[in-house]
Amino acid sequence: MKLTDPTQTLAALIRCPSVTPEEGGALTTLAAMLTDLGFANDRVTFSDTGTPDVENLYSRLGSSGPHLMFAGHTDVVPVGDNSAWTQGPFGADIVDGEMYGRGAVDMKGGIACFVSALARVIERKGVPEGSVSLLITGDEEGPSINGTEKLLAYARAKGEHWDAAVVGEPTNPDKMGDMIKIGRRGSLSGTLTIEGVQGHVAYPHLADNPLRGMVRLVDALLDPPLDAGNERFPPTNLEVTSIDTGNPATNVIPARSTARFNIRFNDIWTAETLADALRARLEQAARDARLREGREAVRYSVDFDARSSPSFLTRDDALIGTLSEAVHAVTGQTPALSTTGGTSDARFIKDYCPVVEFGLVGKTMHMVDERVALSDLESLTKVYETFIEGWFERQAASVEAS
Ligand SMILES: [Zn+2]
Repeated sequence: MKLTDPTQTLAALIRCPSVTPEEGGALTTLAAMLTDLGFANDRVTFSDTGTPDVENLYSRLGSSGPHLMFAGHTDVVPVGDNSAWTQGPFGADIVDGEMYGRGAVDMKGGIACFVSALARVIERKGVPEGSVSLLITGDEEGPSINGTEKLLAYARAKGEHWDAAVVGEPTNPDKMGDMIKIGRRGSLSGTLTIEGVQGHVAYPHLADNPLRGMVRLVDALLDPPLDAGNERFPPTNLEVTSIDTGNPATNVIPARSTARFNIRFNDIWTAETLADALRARLEQAARDARLREGREAVRYSVDFDARSSPSFLTRDDALIGTLSEAVHAVTGQTPALSTTGGTSDARFIKDYCPVVEFGLVGKTMHMVDERVALSDLESLTKVYETFIEGWFERQAASVEAS
């Protein structure tokens, strides 16, 4: 295999059916490539109650600083309707300049490009002065319990320190060069339960319809907007994802109703301040009697999920600048510095070192016929190559200057 060719490195990874939590040969294949480049591999399996065991890989080249980390995942989401794929989901077939396969963009493609970029740097200029490590999990698309979070703690316990990290998730909405992610919104989920009194719809004075309270309390969660966003983050958004009453009868007032909701929040909030603000809104709305004249306050409870993710923003100008310049040099585009989208493993890495995300075009991720343009693979490989060289040069220059 020619490691400098991302179509070859990606094809080898796609051909490993590594649907979470299966390793599927993907980490073994990747580790073999890294061994060829001189890396030392550390394969480690993590376990937890109620979740499947997951294999992970921490691999390092070099022993001194500065230390650049590349993070990602080799696991992929299920193929879905296998017969709907026009090419085999684990075949890596190339049709009309595009390679097909689950994980092509999310995110075996990102890993393949990074490996090929590094192979090119090493071939042209030798091993960078410092260290490069790959922190690769098999548990990003699953529960994310036996993956990046534990692998970071494991590596730190062995004395690993990093100066910067790049996550290779697909960040570009439409074309290469659109977007670098420099932070992420937080995520908080909650459940709202309204207690009522069951009864006959014709005798509402003998009952207490929880849906009357639900309307007011849900409205209070949604309106007014929580904030207007700021220069780096879009406005915080709350979505009600379900309201369940489970009442099949048209003549029965139900006893109880439950709503679930999720908030994607910016750095104006923490999960705690947000939960407090929403509790205050509910408390006030519960006393609003407009739909329940003559009644006591709505009886309700609200529970917030313990597993929330914080929002974060990376402020390392050298890291962001080096990556932006590399993207611009290769694609001609000035990438937007964004904090949009869902959460990613960057939320764990940010506790260890500054982290940014840049990868392929995300359009087909998780879809049938996930695929990547070969020209995009070449473009991302060049971006990573330029970035790796630029980052180490900048580190060396700052050491000289100080
Ligand atoms: Zn991904």
